[in-house]
Amino acid sequence: MAAVGNVLIVGGGTAGSALAVLLARGGVAVDVAEIEPDATALGSGITLQGNALRVLRDLGVWERVSASGYAFDVLGLRAPDGTLLAEVPAARTGGPDLPATLGMNRPELAAVLAEAVRDAGATVRYGLTVTALDDSGAHVAVRFSDGTAGTYDLVVGADGIRSAVRGLLKIDVAPQPTGMGIWRIRTRRPKSVERTDLVYGGPCFIAGYCPTGPDTMYAYLVEKARPRESIADAGKPAHMRALAEGYGGAWDEIRADITDPDRINYTWFESLLVDRPWNRGRTVLIGDAAHACPPTLAQGAAQCLEDAAVLAELLLGAERLDHALFETFMDRRFERAKAVVEASVQLGEWQLHPSPDADVPGLMARISEIVSERP
Ligand SMILES: Cc1cc2nc3c(=O)[nH]c(=O)nc-3n(C[C@H](O)[C@H](O)[C@H](O)COP(=O)(O)OP(=O)(O)OC[C@H]3O[C@@H](n4cnc5c(N)ncnc54)[C@H](O)[C@@H]3O)c2cc1C
Repeated sequence: MAAVGNVLIVGGGTAGSALAVLLARGGVAVDVAEIEPDATALGSGITLQGNALRVLRDLGVWERVSASGYAFDVLGLRAPDGTLLAEVPAARTGGPDLPATLGMNRPELAAVLAEAVRDAGATVRYGLTVTALDDSGAHVAVRFSDGTAGTYDLVVGADGIRSAVRGLLKIDVAPQPTGMGIWRIRTRRPKSVERTDLVYGGPCFIAGYCPTGPDTMYAYLVEKARPRESIADAGKPAHMRALAEGYGGAWDEIRADITDPDRINYTWFESLLVDRPWNRGRTVLIGDAAHACPPTLAQGAAQCLEDAAVLAELLLGAERLDHALFETFMDRRFERAKAVVEASVQLGEWQLHPSPDADVPGLMARISEIVSERP
């Protein structure tokens, strides 16, 4: 017997899908309400660290993930002209039998997770959100945007950084811009790109890329955040090409391919941390709804997946949903997620405001050590 018989998960992204798979497989009746009309994820690629891969393996999707992604174990550091400065072995945070890092196209990751959710027997309702939650102490009565209603033992807000569930719970925490903006493009992989190479410095704070498959990769340039409305779609390729102008090596080929505005995404770096506890009664936040970080450590999705894994383990292993279960969830998740958010923000801060105290390798090593432990 699990602590819950039925669960509503609001948001079918990385965190919500992972939780849906684990709970449905454990015999819980799971409904997912996803506001988008289908499972297609927008965006470019994603860099998944070993501790994210560990959860994906536990979900039973590792074979599909490894077949469609591009794995590597070494990080390159380069000068703006492309000269190789250092090759740094990346920590295998998911254990020795998983690669340190895997790049993947976001739509493919979304498709793999959507199929796993279906196979596990969870019900996904697209184009739907929640409009009201009424917690009686024994259940949560939910009203949906299509006028229907339901009653659940637990509601999970996995609806991302701008979480509506967080608002319904009256948790007044909003995403904070960190001062940086990132240009990303999904593009063709030059043969020389076989791992992530980062350039700190040159015209941007960071220039980097990550292979996502035999023929694909994504490349990114991080600069000071600019007003979003100043970026018209048609001007995106020229702007990104101009920023890339200062970089050599593989960037010569990448720059030539920066032509299609539909393949370019510009967004600000933001961060968010909800103080513990992440639940109010029988409704709990997970993933970016509770903690979100700029991708300076590429740990965002890993932390979301870990939330799902730990919450599922606790719900399936307990007989009752009570205060103690949520406290244990927080004991296992809060400090770890907080450390990742704070370190991710700090790394950006040191670039925006250089400091003699900055210890980038030291901070990165500390986070690698933390996330290498099972949560
Ligand atoms: C520029 C950038 C680059 C990043 N790069 C990386 C990286 O390389 N590696 C990494 O690990 N992480 C990265 N991240 C972070 C990572 O993308 C997030 O941490 C992760 O996707 C969050 O997953 P989630 O499931 O919590 O939220 P989301 O992926 O945002 O999913 C939330 C889901 O909820 C749905 N939803 C939203 N509102 C509602 C509603 N009201 N009702 C119902 N459904 C709703 C959405 O449609 C979506 O499907 C990056 C983030 C950014 C901004």
